[in-house]
Amino acid sequence: MAKASPKKKAKEKEPEYIHVKFDMPRHYNWSTGKHLGHFYAEAKENKKIVGNRCPQCKEIRVPPTVVCPKCKVEMGWDLVELPQTGTVYQYTYLVMPLWDPHYGEKWANPYPSAIILLDNDVFYRHRLEETDKDKVKVGMRVQAVWKEDYEERGEGPADILYFKEIGK
Ligand SMILES: [Zn+2]
Repeated sequence: MAKASPKKKAKEKEPEYIHVKFDMPRHYNWSTGKHLGHFYAEAKENKKIVGNRCPQCKEIRVPPTVVCPKCKVEMGWDLVELPQTGTVYQYTYLVMPLWDPHYGEKWANPYPSAIILLDNDVFYRHRLEETDKDKVKVGMRVQAVWKEDYEERGEGPADILYFKEIGK
């Protein structure tokens, strides 16, 4: 069979794509499991950040995990309440459009996402209230600000609106 000449190929019609636009409702429940469920429950009920401590390496995992990723042992239920104050360790600005994978909502954009060293030396990632690039600094002291309305909580990490600079 003869090959199609490049000239002939160029004349082929471009494919047309059919687009269908629709909004699909995605209302469903999913199980968090016991460990992550405890994190969600403490956030909703008590506005607390909890983790669990590995029986072997003694490091705290937040949210609580079933297995220590470092030691590969069962974490168990040595639950630890984490402080809600800390220091910005590093940060970046998220500028690409992002969708929340759990709730399908578009996140405000751009915003600073920070790694915060909580006051018990555990790292926690969350967004910052301050969005001015000239004001966000490594070393900033910050504290968690929770959603006040109980009915609006129940989204785990998103129950914290952001971390705001202490004293502002
Ligand atoms: Zn461990």
